Amino acid sequence: MELTQSKELKNIYLGEGQMITIARQPAAPILMYHRIGNPRRGSIVSGQYVSPQLFEKQLRFLQRRGYTPMCLANFLSELRHPKARVKPIAITFDDGYESAYAEALPILKKLGITATFFVVAGQVGESNAWDEEKGDVTECMMGIEQIIDVHRQGMEIGSHTSSHPDLLLCSDEHAMAEIQGSKKLLETILGKPVDWFSYPYGRENDHIRSLVRSAGYVGACGTRRSLNTARTNRFSLGRLNIRATTTIPWMIYKFARAARNEVAAG
Ligand SMILES: [Zn+2]
Repeated sequence: MELTQSKELKNIYLGEGQMITIARQPAAPILMYHRIGNPRRGSIVSGQYVSPQLFEKQLRFLQRRGYTPMCLANFLSELRHPKARVKPIAITFDDGYESAYAEALPILKKLGITATFFVVAGQVGESNAWDEEKGDVTECMMGIEQIIDVHRQGMEIGSHTSSHPDLLLCSDEHAMAEIQGSKKLLETILGKPVDWFSYPYGRENDHIRSLVRSAGYVGACGTRRSLNTARTNRFSLGRLNIRATTTIPWMIYKFARAARNEVAAG
């Protein structure tokens, strides 16, 4: 009898004519956003600005395609215990910009979507100092009240260190202070555990991952352009960078390219 390969089922040949059919591991994307709004004149990272109109269009497109956009806690649980007819996709915001609060949060609420907001804990209520140093325009970061409100509205708060350094260039002591200190500070603000971490600039290696794990996080996101399965190292989750120019066809292309990476890494 011949079994057909499908999206859900995969045949494994055991030799001597024997074959078993198993459920495929679902491979799912995590999207990474930064600033929501129109690009600011003079910004050195103008690609990071996604207009609210494009943001909403992308989410509505995903929902029409059968995806359920969600925060990382729910995403990990879907990868581990996949439910029929749920296509998980995680939505994340790096840095903790006020524009994500003002522009993205109302759209997420309107569409019934949860997401994860990674905050630079030492810059709460301040500005994007790490980019300003390089000549970028000043952007406001969410303040304490806004972070509490994001959390109260059902979103997840994660840490993106205290000061947004390249962790590979930090001493162990400095790196741990960034990783653990930011977790503690955010937990004090929220009164809840902070389980998720995002590596600034996507810079990670085995050693940094082990520090993040030992600090008590559940998982961490990098910027490797790949999809994720239940087998993916949860301290090195792949993410797709969504930029000002990520139209719907370009997003579809990014998914396809990431799927190839997942197979290659698998
Ligand atoms: Zn960042």
